[in-house]
Amino acid sequence: MDDHQFRTAMGKFATGVTVITTELDGDIHGMTANAFMSVSLDPKLVVISIGEKAKILNKIKDSKIFTVNILAADQQDLSMIFAGQIKEPREVVFDRLDGKPALAGACAQVACEVSTAHVEGDHTLFIGKVTDIHLEEKEPLVFVNGKYRELAGIS
Ligand code: FAD
Repeated sequence: MDDHQFRTAMGKFATGVTVITTELDGDIHGMTANAFMSVSLDPKLVVISIGEKAKILNKIKDSKIFTVNILAADQQDLSMIFAGQIKEPREVVFDRLDGKPALAGACAQVACEVSTAHVEGDHTLFIGKVTDIHLEEKEPLVFVNGKYRELAGIS
């Protein structure tokens, strides 16, 4: 088993795409992430997994807040911007949810306070206590086999 085989296997697991946003000293930073899941209903907890090289890692550690923005099918460009795949600087419109930065136009915005952080291998798992949610009636963006997809045609 090598890294490529591991990545290929994990890529078979179809996910949505999120942009994690946080704010430190007035600066908003975002990062594309699909390592996200719901953890608990009572209390309402979610988890995200952030790589040790990601700039957002220390920002979340220090700010102790983040928002998970579940991207809509028409937001692939935002996924590429916040994954560093589109290099030219772009103006991005942010909302506020419970005082935390969020991405306008997302299917769902989930505002969180960091409950705990666990370092596991080369990633840090942040458990987030959900403090507010905003929903929009939009179809989600899908990511599988390293490619973006839409749900159109799936019944
Ligand atoms: P940077 O690389 O500096 O920032 C990312 C990009 O966002 C830069 O281009 C920057 O200009 C832009 N940006 C940041 N803030 C703003 C702002 N306020 N306004 C405008 N642009 C801004 N990595 C993980 O650790 N965990 C995951 O779960 C994960 N899932 C991924 C899923 C997908 C589908 C993809 C494509 C990538 C995923 N990655 C994941 C990789 C991760 O998105 C990239 O490595 C990312 O570049 C790391 O971001 P960074 O925090 O180091 O910051």
